[in-house]
Amino acid sequence: MNGQDSAAVIGRLRRLLGDEAVISDPADLAERVGEPRGRYRDLPLAYLRPATTQQVSAALTLCHEAGLVIVPRGGNTGLVGGQCVRSPHEEVVISLERMREIRRVDADGASLIAEAGCPLARVQEAAAAAGLLFPMSLASEGTATIGGNIATNAGGHLTIRYGNMRQQVLGLEVVLADGRILDGLKGLRKDNSGYDLNQLFIGSEGTLGIITAASLNLVSAPRQSMTALMGVADLPSTLTLLRLLRRHLGETISALELMPRLAMDFVLDYLPDAHDPLVREHPWYLLLQADTAVAGDWLRDACARSLERAADEGVAADTVVAGNDIQADSLWRLRESVSPAQKIGGVSLKHDISVPVAAIPEFVDETCSALAERVPGIRACVFGHVGDGNLHFNLSQPEGMDPEVFRALEADCNRIVFDAVMRHRGSIAAEHGIGQLRAEELALRGDTVRLGLMRRLKSAFDPEGLLNPGKILTKGGHGNSSCG
Ligand SMILES: Cc1cc2nc3c(=O)[nH]c(=O)nc-3n(C[C@H](O)[C@H](O)[C@H](O)COP(=O)(O)OP(=O)(O)OC[C@H]3O[C@@H](n4cnc5c(N)ncnc54)[C@H](O)[C@@H]3O)c2cc1C
Repeated sequence: MNGQDSAAVIGRLRRLLGDEAVISDPADLAERVGEPRGRYRDLPLAYLRPATTQQVSAALTLCHEAGLVIVPRGGNTGLVGGQCVRSPHEEVVISLERMREIRRVDADGASLIAEAGCPLARVQEAAAAAGLLFPMSLASEGTATIGGNIATNAGGHLTIRYGNMRQQVLGLEVVLADGRILDGLKGLRKDNSGYDLNQLFIGSEGTLGIITAASLNLVSAPRQSMTALMGVADLPSTLTLLRLLRRHLGETISALELMPRLAMDFVLDYLPDAHDPLVREHPWYLLLQADTAVAGDWLRDACARSLERAADEGVAADTVVAGNDIQADSLWRLRESVSPAQKIGGVSLKHDISVPVAAIPEFVDETCSALAERVPGIRACVFGHVGDGNLHFNLSQPEGMDPEVFRALEADCNRIVFDAVMRHRGSIAAEHGIGQLRAEELALRGDTVRLGLMRRLKSAFDPEGLLNPGKILTKGGHGNSSCG
């Protein structure tokens, strides 16, 4: 599109949505680009801020007619560049930032309807105000939006008990590429009247439609809670411990998070007021949270018994149990600080992967050996949601190595990690998604039948290929059809 045509489209968008909803000045646009990992900074042609579903629909209708590419955006906390433009000055970002209302809370039906731009933390607060829990928690929850969480099928540490975002969605309101509105907000828990289209939008990273509102599942709020940190000697012991805890605590386990000593070192350096919670240093740490909605005070005793048993069996000799909420928060703060604290170790190459839980020890062992052979001194900071097999397989540069030299080894390190993931029948994108960062990798490694079906779905929902092209699916990958 030439400069004159784009100015005309921006003028039409202004008349349609109002001045406050259309940002096109380069200085204003520059303030809105960038993302958490600092990889993508290109300016869009315009940045739209519609305030209603009807405005989203009107904007998409117009962009569809004009053949403009649309990039949906929520809180911009995505880690794979799905919310960022690929062709500078040609694509239009549609941000849901002004659609932040909780439309309805239904305490009897244990559900609520939130607009897509509503931050996750606000949904949690609305649920809590009704005496219920929205069972999704991420370190980015103050900024990440419900629309973004659904579009990425977000995970987080409660997945082990409640599942991913997919399990929390009862219905969606979606604006399609051509502007039509699909109203699926009935929020019924039973509805087998044909294909479940809602499920297709969950995890579609803005490539099939723009989610404008969601009906979400709520659960009973916990009435007893317990948090403990355990020191563990090796990964096989972590799995033994996991089995033991499951046997003793059953479905009360809400989170089981793994951290290596390297992560603890980074965090203790990064947080000036933090201290090592255990007396001795351990190669690995397991953070446990257990909750129940059943009243009483039996959970603490049940946890104490299971931890004693773990000590007797020699799988967790050293444990600290939080005595109150403040202590529990400070244990969680250690875990939540691992991501930002890695900058203490210089450049970090990050991989959000999953493998079957039982394969974790062998996978970590063989991948670390292969990496050490290729990059002597490389430091693996492998942490994450071990209970569901999701590891953040992050690699810090060897001490003293030039950061640029390490960055140049990224492709080799990726190959080693992803080859091992494939051998263990895992996933190269566990919870952050594919976006643009891993689209080539998926095209290379994905199952051709699956990729072919995904491309056909993309063509059915977005025949012109205008919704977030180049995200998830590359042009020209396996099972290719014409759309990007
Ligand atoms: C500190 C930190 C911790 C994190 N922890 C976790 C974690 O534990 N688990 C986890 O899963 N992720 C985590 N993330 C990643 C991120 O927070 C999630 O991917 C989140 O779901 C993205 O939501 P968002 O609103 O920021 O979306 P954005 O970043 O704005 O967008 C992400 C993707 O969704 C699409 N999208 C956004 N809104 C819509 C919409 N309304 N309709 C259609 N498509 C849309 C975008 O096009 C893009 O492809 C973390 C990120 C940070 C920075």
